[in-house]
Amino acid sequence: MEYKKADKSYKDVGPKGGKLVERLQCALCGWIRPVKYGVSKRMGQVREVRFDKMDLIHAPLWRLEKMTSAGRGSPKATIELVDSKTLVQLNDDIKFQIINQCQAILKILKSQ
Ligand SMILES: [Zn+2]
Repeated sequence: MEYKKADKSYKDVGPKGGKLVERLQCALCGWIRPVKYGVSKRMGQVREVRFDKMDLIHAPLWRLEKMTSAGRGSPKATIELVDSKTLVQLNDDIKFQIINQCQAILKILKSQ
């Protein structure tokens, strides 16, 4: 797989106008998120993207959720976890993808 530079997002604004937003792309899944994204309502701390906070044994990585009353981003949304799977319970195809990507990441980082 070859990395292609994405076209500029409509959210990207140059230094002469607008606000600069520092974003980080996940090496595992490619999801691009702002490095700091608001303040936790529970903890009152600035939330930031981290790659070392997952509970890899217990976290429900696959989820079947039932959403009612409003969209996910709405404070009125009610999300009920119907079913879930942990890392070791994921299907073989997804585990294979994770293993391959982790090995590629390690190979690059350890060659530094
Ligand atoms: Zn990711």
